[in-house]
Amino acid sequence: MIRGLKGPSFMDLALKTAENAGKAGEVPIGCVIVRDHEVIATAGNRTLTDYDPTGHAEIVALREAAKKIGSERLVDCDLYVTLEPCTMCAGAISFARVRRLYYGAADPKGGAVESGVRFFASPTCHHAPEVYSGVGESEASRLLKAFFRERR
Ligand SMILES: [Zn+2]
Repeated sequence: MIRGLKGPSFMDLALKTAENAGKAGEVPIGCVIVRDHEVIATAGNRTLTDYDPTGHAEIVALREAAKKIGSERLVDCDLYVTLEPCTMCAGAISFARVRRLYYGAADPKGGAVESGVRFFASPTCHHAPEVYSGVGESEASRLLKAFFRERR
């Protein structure tokens, strides 16, 4: 358990997790879920490792956090993720009733918060978290760019 970290430090942990996911051959995206200043879940992307198209960092972390607190609703929880969540993850974040969402880089191609469908602003979204973007943005973009450069 990591206690007493402030916002940017939780994002640092998400970035570290993203880096580790990248080292494992996954797209370098990392997610951390925090409740009462305590990290209750940490996850990187696992789509390739688990042969799971839903294995995005946010989904993996939401599952872990929900199990840990024994509830499918993460009402007092804040979620930190290095990249703007996609449509699937934005939906899951809404269903989980996450309190605050902090993300690093925007994702014009696959994002669903400020890009694409802007899920939290849609009439079919019944819970929207408070959203803080651009947290740790430059490091998150650096990781992703380096990853895709190596792949080409
Ligand atoms: Zn996603």
